[in-house]
Amino acid sequence: MNKDLKPKDKKKFLEKLASEIKSCQKCGLCKTATQAVPGDGHYNADIMFIGEAPGFYEDRDGIPFVGRAGKLLDFLLHQINLARKDIYITNIVKHRPPENRDPTEAEILACQPFLKKQIEIIQPKVIATLGRYAMNYFLPNAKISASHGVEVIMPNYVLYPLYHPAAALRNGTVKKTLILDFLRLPEIVKKVESGEIEAKDQNNENNAQYELLK
Ligand code: SF4
Repeated sequence: MNKDLKPKDKKKFLEKLASEIKSCQKCGLCKTATQAVPGDGHYNADIMFIGEAPGFYEDRDGIPFVGRAGKLLDFLLHQINLARKDIYITNIVKHRPPENRDPTEAEILACQPFLKKQIEIIQPKVIATLGRYAMNYFLPNAKISASHGVEVIMPNYVLYPLYHPAAALRNGTVKKTLILDFLRLPEIVKKVESGEIEAKDQNNENNAQYELLK
């Protein structure tokens, strides 16, 4: 990973990657989706949010996390004095699976290089996964009920699992938990900035899936 990427290079590389994603045909999802949803936000963001896959509204608009869940995410960002333009948000797979089914392992593997490159370009301090599925991509054995709101030190960033906003819309208790976890995000970024948390623990057993991303 190149730690010396300049912001203007990050912007250029991310745009180039988005155009590669838009023309990608590496798995069958591009045949059934309306369009690709590469990602949205700032190329130099401290926080990167990662969900599972585009849904109906994302597929229609080409932007991740729109619709009711996206509105809740915007509300949560506002609570920590951030907006979409300050963070980066994407999904594990970039085309919508038919009928919102879970992506298959083959589809995830085909799409994996794009997410890996996005992380390498942006170099976020914190990756906040949204929902169980995105969390298990990085931490295969983790349970969302136990791991939400618990920071995990990865080699180059801190992973911070959160409940999915759509789950929060269905359940008031989950919504309260998501809000409380979300409010801790600025504190975690500050801890990384100050060196209190150092994202370099190569021996963390949770890094198993990260190895796949290299
Ligand atoms: S989901 Fe990913 S791998 Fe599959 S076609 Fe879309 S961009 Fe390519």
